Amino acid sequence: MHKPCSVCSVKVTSSLRKRRCSTCQCLIEQAANRGTSLVRTAIQASVAEVAIRESLLLSRRLYDTADLTLACHYSHIPLVFEKSLSHRGDYVSFDHAIPNDASRAVLCSRITNDIKGWMTDIEFRAFIVNIVEADARRRIHGLNYVETSEFLNALRSVMNKPGSPDKTNVSRLKALSSKIHYRKATNLIDVQPNHLDGQSS
Ligand SMILES: [Zn+2]
Repeated sequence: MHKPCSVCSVKVTSSLRKRRCSTCQCLIEQAANRGTSLVRTAIQASVAEVAIRESLLLSRRLYDTADLTLACHYSHIPLVFEKSLSHRGDYVSFDHAIPNDASRAVLCSRITNDIKGWMTDIEFRAFIVNIVEADARRRIHGLNYVETSEFLNALRSVMNKPGSPDKTNVSRLKALSSKIHYRKATNLIDVQPNHLDGQSS
């Protein structure tokens, strides 16, 4: 006996006693995880559920699909959520829109979460615009200088047009994000304040 998941309404629960499908349940548990260093604020189930639904709505608008697809709040790429892919840059993670404020969260890719670090979402937007304009030599972990520059330029374009799909830049961001491999396959990013190494040339 199955019933629709109370969070995504896309998948079904594994038994009548359960409220959530296995994917949403895993995500809720991931949100509650404070990471090994315990510097993160845990995200409550109710806040995580809102984040999942928002991500689902965003992906419906962008990709016109009825499947359970989750889109990154910042880069708009479809996120992978299978545990076996948790080492990848396009793996789903929860981001506190405002660091350590547990009342609001969004879903985004590991790599954008990592670049955002301790910035608020407003600071992050400003950072992405300024850093691209500064045009310094920078490298995102796992990418070379050219790819890093492509990544940041594409991210800036997507973030500047929150309302309209930007297929070319989103597919470039997806390709680059999935290429990034973290060494340790953790559940969630343990905050590494900034993954973007600045370097003057
Ligand atoms: Zn679900």
